[in-house]
Amino acid sequence: FGGIGGASRLGILVKGSNYLETLSHAETVVFDKTGTLTDGSFNVVAVHPSSGIDPDRLLSIAAHAEAYSNHPIALSVRAAYSGPIDQQRIDDVQEQSGHGVRARIDEHVVLVGNDKLMSECGVGCHDCELTGTILHVSLDGEYIGHIVIADVVKPDAAEAVAALRAAGVKKTVMLTGDSRARAEKIADEVGMSEVNAQLLPDEKLEKAELLKKDGALLYVGDGINDAPVMAVADCSVSMGKLGSAAAVEASDLVLISDNLRAIPRCVRIARKTRKIVTENIAFSIAMKVAFMALGVAGVMPLWLAVFADVGVMLLAVLNSLRMRLKIRGEGV
Ligand code: ADP
Ligand code: MG
Repeated sequence: FGGIGGASRLGILVKGSNYLETLSHAETVVFDKTGTLTDGSFNVVAVHPSSGIDPDRLLSIAAHAEAYSNHPIALSVRAAYSGPIDQQRIDDVQEQSGHGVRARIDEHVVLVGNDKLMSECGVGCHDCELTGTILHVSLDGEYIGHIVIADVVKPDAAEAVAALRAAGVKKTVMLTGDSRARAEKIADEVGMSEVNAQLLPDEKLEKAELLKKDGALLYVGDGINDAPVMAVADCSVSMGKLGSAAAVEASDLVLISDNLRAIPRCVRIARKTRKIVTENIAFSIAMKVAFMALGVAGVMPLWLAVFADVGVMLLAVLNSLRMRLKIRGEGV
């Protein structure tokens, strides 16, 4: 209770003491990129239409196709499009996780997504000289250009990763569905030891299962396309603000304010809690054995017997309360 209460002061909801136990010996920490390491708000950096296409028309088509998606990418495209969204024009919307969206706009088949989606549908697309997440757009199988968007790394991400290392975590890994170039740039910025890019949701799951073999795995994600990974990880953390409702439900720990720095502190709380529990168990057993020996030897006055029972229990409780004092004094 001391550990869970302490964690809640730091803005982390821990759903059970067993999760503190797992957290205390986490060896690998795996992060999702979009919405977890980055703040999930993408900005449109450039609109590059194919020749003969008006840039406003390209943006309008993309914004209409993304009208019903709650992916951070979709939100940014809608924010960049200044005009109104006319729902009458949209029909038959399908979102393909890790790929993009397909919709009928004004009776034309529109695809908006990454190169994987384009090649699966047989649309030829080309890369962009700008680094960022590239959203390719096609109309009736014809490539009409791309939109370049970029997301911003959370200001405390690098610090959180460094603190996890300092707390004894062996490996920090990033899993993302985004392009390799973008993933590597962000991994560099925050100091990840390993990057895996261009993963589909089920590939993220496979990769997590593989990493789990190397030791207790802590997964940190926002739940958009990665809720299944949360279910297989030994312990999972979701973003309380940006995360999907499914993620908050599926995860074992919830970061109320999406503040990544709280994770290494929570690992330290978990370790401290385990240390105090072990101390209390060892202390109680040792005292009981000593007093029992005194009893057998016939040198046990009544007051000492009462102390052996109630006194030891009170000392153990006081020892546990140290946890709260430590957290208040920022000792962990
Ligand atoms: P991450 O693993 O970084 O959280 P996702 O798995 O959610 O990313 O998405 C992976 C990739 O799939 C994105 O980088 C984007 O190229 C594409 N994508 C996913 N959803 C959409 C969408 N609604 N619109 C366009 N592209 C999308
Ligand atoms: Mg994500």
